[in-house]
Amino acid sequence: MISIRNIHKSYLNGQNSLHVLKGIDLDVAAGDMISVMGASGSGKSTLLNILGILDTYDQGEYILGGVKIKRLNERKAAQLRNRMLGFVFQSFNLISFKNAMENVAMPLYYQHVKRKKRNLIALEYLDKMGIREWAHHLPNELSGGQKQRVAIARALITQPKVILADEPTGALDSVTSLEVMDQLHEINKSGITMIIVTHEHDIAARTRKTIRITDGLITDIVEN
Ligand code: ADP
Ligand code: MG
Repeated sequence: MISIRNIHKSYLNGQNSLHVLKGIDLDVAAGDMISVMGASGSGKSTLLNILGILDTYDQGEYILGGVKIKRLNERKAAQLRNRMLGFVFQSFNLISFKNAMENVAMPLYYQHVKRKKRNLIALEYLDKMGIREWAHHLPNELSGGQKQRVAIARALITQPKVILADEPTGALDSVTSLEVMDQLHEINKSGITMIIVTHEHDIAARTRKTIRITDGLITDIVEN
């Protein structure tokens, strides 16, 4: 599903260049569930953003679902993101003035699905996540775990092939974290490939394989 070879990425900060990814190789098979660990600043989010076609890379090769991801214009990149990828973030990234149902339905708005239809589909996904009764609540009326379930439902509504999650349990207590991980497991069982960045060992241990990034390089791969 995902194949990257010798990926390099530097950021320019004024006169200085910061070499963040220093030659990453990674293969993720369709249906796999892997975690990425590493110290703060080691390049985990940078890697995830490249995998999510949210950021570009300087050198190397990235193939996603058979498509070479290099110098895509924004329209093509957005198309691929829409068709292939779902995102889950630590901070949920919900729109504060839209209710849970409307947040989940948002990706379908961008696919020009009519409001009534997209809201109905959103309700189905909220139901799958066990929070249908919260459909008409605003994000600030939801607990952290409920917000993350809304965000996961929003990631699923376009039926992505791959879910990219950047510290999805980073803002949750440990019990809620494990519940959210259980749900991510269920989603993975339905065949969706999953890549989860985390710095929690018990979260990583629930994935099939953990990749450790140290200072921009993969230094360890452990089967869990
Ligand atoms: P991690 O997610 O592992 O904590 P990141 O990938 O976010 O690390 O960041 C790696 C390094 O790149 C850090 O030193 C960070 O400050 C730097 N960095 C990340 N994004 C940018 C950016 N857009 N511009 C400049 N530097 C960045
Ligand atoms: Mg990060």
